[in-house]
Amino acid sequence: MDPDGKPLAVDERDYYKESKTVKPITLNCPSCRTQDTYELNWIVRTKKERLPGGADERDRAKFAKAQSYMVLMDNQAMCKNLRCRKRFDISGVKTMAFI
Ligand SMILES: [Zn+2]
Repeated sequence: MDPDGKPLAVDERDYYKESKTVKPITLNCPSCRTQDTYELNWIVRTKKERLPGGADERDRAKFAKAQSYMVLMDNQAMCKNLRCRKRFDISGVKTMAFI
């Protein structure tokens, strides 16, 4: 969707090839304060070489500015401390990153 609300001829998701990756990150459980490494799941959107067919001017302009990026899928982690095992929200992690 455009900022002015008009749908584009090509869905923005079609700009990218989608894959998944796992990245380790250090988190602190807010309950027991144990620090551990958690494998978080990300969706990686790699910009395609070219736009799919049916693209119009606006699509091309938008595509030219598009960048590959990744989005964090997880919003919670389960504490690895066996005496705790509480779920906690992942905070302080960038949930979106350009690659
Ligand atoms: Zn914990």
